[in-house]
Amino acid sequence: MNASVKQKKDSSPDKSGCGMTNSSDIQLTINFYLKEFVISEEAERHGYRNEPNEKQIENLRLLCVNVLQPLREIINVPIFINSGFRSFDVNTAVGGRFNSQHLEGKATDFVVHSMNLADVFNIVFQKLSFDQLIYEFGKWIHVSWNGESNRKDVMISKKVHGKTVYEKVIGDRLTVVGL
Ligand SMILES: [Zn+2]
Repeated sequence: MNASVKQKKDSSPDKSGCGMTNSSDIQLTINFYLKEFVISEEAERHGYRNEPNEKQIENLRLLCVNVLQPLREIINVPIFINSGFRSFDVNTAVGGRFNSQHLEGKATDFVVHSMNLADVFNIVFQKLSFDQLIYEFGKWIHVSWNGESNRKDVMISKKVHGKTVYEKVIGDRLTVVGL
């Protein structure tokens, strides 16, 4: 009971009431539910299905177990999922890369409203394991988990003349300058 009350606080209020059925609301870890990772405004807008299969749900669960839940316990404030699993159609609609890990349920984009985003990024960077960690345009954090194949890539994305550019983060922390 407590966990479900807590979870409500973690769910982004502007994404509620999207017509998702209860059957998709599987608890992945204490603070994270499947629904948060499959609701997509883009899918709603275009009428695309955005339903992960068992393997993709398992990948989302591993991402929660290994990255998001440990982070949630360190920062002790809600994490808001912007985009988790993406079907092929949804990924195409949002301009995702053809090989995006969102397609496999291995990646998520998130924000933390009550903390400085660079501080959250540095906690993941310094304290947790991951495959790729990207500080996206200073607006959200992309993180993925790929088990034993984790690369521990740390990058920052920027728009340069309208094109997305990825730069490796050098050193052991992100210092945000001129984003
Ligand atoms: Zn992403």
